[in-house]
Amino acid sequence: MSAVTAFHAGPWVQLQSHVFGKPPLHKQGKLFVADRLGATGTEISLNRLEAGDGYPFLHRHHAHEEVYLVIDGRGEILVDGRSIPVAAGSVVRIAPEGVRSIRAATDSPLTYACIQAVAGSLISRTVEDGELVPGPVVWGA
Ligand code: ZN
Repeated sequence: MSAVTAFHAGPWVQLQSHVFGKPPLHKQGKLFVADRLGATGTEISLNRLEAGDGYPFLHRHHAHEEVYLVIDGRGEILVDGRSIPVAAGSVVRIAPEGVRSIRAATDSPLTYACIQAVAGSLISRTVEDGELVPGPVVWGA
């Protein structure tokens, strides 16, 4: 198996052409990519909510923590009844048991990625897990 898989989702503004799930979990503008990537330790979704749009339900997880990376726009994330304003550059981690929802601002779309991983599964930090590989960097191989 190759050490790399790549998937190009296209411009973030075109995420509205993707639809996730069936009612009541049906949502336009949500694209899960872990299967497309063959990811084994993370689930990742790319998301775009139009201005005024949001999830009309609450949810939590059994084992996965979620990290929301806001790419563009503004909105808010509701966690255990607490509203957290978010905007481009915001990074929010929610423990599995946190009861959550997300919405765009009424006057701004919200574009974000959500990364799920099993809470407590990180066995070391990035610098500790990586190692330098000797040799020149040759592009285009
Ligand atoms: Zn979730």
